[in-house]
Amino acid sequence: MTAFNTIPNIPESLLATLQTLNFTTMTEIQEKSISPILEGKDILAQSKTGSGKTLAFGIPAVIKTDVGKNRPQTIIITPTRELAEQVAAELRKIAAYKPNLKILTLYGGVPLRAQADSLAKGAHILIGTPGRIQDHLAKETLTLESINTLVLDEADRMLDMGFYDEIVKIASNMPKKKQTLLFSATFPHKIETLAKKLLKEPLIVKVDTVQ
Ligand code: ADP
Ligand code: MG
Repeated sequence: MTAFNTIPNIPESLLATLQTLNFTTMTEIQEKSISPILEGKDILAQSKTGSGKTLAFGIPAVIKTDVGKNRPQTIIITPTRELAEQVAAELRKIAAYKPNLKILTLYGGVPLRAQADSLAKGAHILIGTPGRIQDHLAKETLTLESINTLVLDEADRMLDMGFYDEIVKIASNMPKKKQTLLFSATFPHKIETLAKKLLKEPLIVKVDTVQ
């Protein structure tokens, strides 16, 4: 069990926030992926549900966000609106130490217009489902030119739901030079195909136990 304070250059204010949330030691997936992500590596990570994958990509995403730039920098794609909300809730908690950091969710079932207005005001981290992200791209209420990190969360579920083509299409709207992080609970063959398409020399992190 390794403490969060062993992460190189982790801001003191983030450590204090983690402490108030009672997060003191990292889970195994966090221990193996946070530092390489902070170093800029692409990651192909597999660990079971409940093993703490959200903070494994969420902590680096929050640390790396430049709130001085009012542009989306990280986009996290999730299979469902419920998961998008869960991820947003967890990231908003740890981002409390950066009060100007804006996290916006994009999913169906709510009017496009309201989300478009929020996008126009600016957000740093976007969390959304493939269909709604594509809707915004098609209507040009969203551009992904300033994205430097793409996260695919629950990638296995997204592929089960038939989102392969949508994910590849969304990624094609982002700069080629970016970091891509793929997180999944299982590792079916389709994940390997998606990883080959989107990740560059990824570090492969597999964790078999739940902590
Ligand atoms: P996964 O995405 O792998 O299914 P989650 O990221 O949703 O898992 O985390 C599962 C639960 O564990 C959440 O309630 C989360 O707040 C908690 N958790 C995550 N990291 C830690 C940690 N380092 N210490 C204690 N609890 C944690
Ligand atoms: Mg998860």
